[in-house]
Amino acid sequence: MAYNFAMSGSSEAPAVEASALTHPGRKRTTNQDAVGKKLTDRGGVFVVADGMGGHRTGELASKLAVKNILEVIEEDAPSPTLLLEAFEEANEAIYMAGQRPESRGMGTTATALALDLPYALIAHVGDSRAYLLRDGELTQLTQDHSWVAERLRQGLLTATEARNHRWRNVITNALGSFPDARVDLIGLKVQAGDRFLICSDGLSGVLEDAVLQEVLDTLPTDAAAERLVKLANEWGGPDNISVVTVAVNHIPKNHSPPPWALPLEGEEPVVLALGQEDESVQVQVLNSGHARGFWRRWRDFIFLIVYVALLLFVLLFNNR
Ligand code: CA
Repeated sequence: MAYNFAMSGSSEAPAVEASALTHPGRKRTTNQDAVGKKLTDRGGVFVVADGMGGHRTGELASKLAVKNILEVIEEDAPSPTLLLEAFEEANEAIYMAGQRPESRGMGTTATALALDLPYALIAHVGDSRAYLLRDGELTQLTQDHSWVAERLRQGLLTATEARNHRWRNVITNALGSFPDARVDLIGLKVQAGDRFLICSDGLSGVLEDAVLQEVLDTLPTDAAAERLVKLANEWGGPDNISVVTVAVNHIPKNHSPPPWALPLEGEEPVVLALGQEDESVQVQVLNSGHARGFWRRWRDFIFLIVYVALLLFVLLFNNR
């Protein structure tokens, strides 16, 4: 069963077009992902959530996240404070629902994009992702809150190892797991022609970034979303697949910048807040990660020497 949230589109080329799709994939009987979108005059709000938990609770968690986030952001013009508030409300709703004994372990990722053109704000928890396609080039805007992503950043795993690791689905931050939400917040100034992709790991864990880039760069929003879901299924569809594609056709005029947008006047995305708690610990972990990366290279070097020695030994032995 696929939920298709209808897309916008009119003859007068709206400022923003978007498409949101979610699909159970080919291996799972349920879909614990949820997507949401709401278009406004100056942009809109777009959310992807990937729920986890036992019987039916993952589905409930992701739906609660999308519903609460959309409701809060619809109340007012987007701002960093409003996005954080929306994530706090979603966190509280899921945390409360998760207190029932049968709902233990309930939680969800959530990645939300709020467009108030020419500004974009992205709030993020977990390992669903937001990407920006600008001038044909794809950039991942969010950092995964996952076990493998942390080790990748510390230099303890390579990208290929992380992609295939048996713990690749373990996330280190989720909505509903703790009384308080830990939310990353990223902001940027949008340019006409920019495209955004928000997706769950059922897409980004299956398709390479180069494929995402090519599809986003060559197809309109509706066709791109459909194509990405189809490709993920063709590559096995091991997990629920969620895709939101957003295209900014033009920037509406006559908008005085809100006060919070002052740091966003440059070309690059700006990290406005990092939600992972214990930042001091994180810094220490990062440093020890570099140290371990150093030993890891030595370890690999020693393995190489031993391997070459064994190879020589076998070759010489066979020649006798
Ligand atoms: Ca997933």
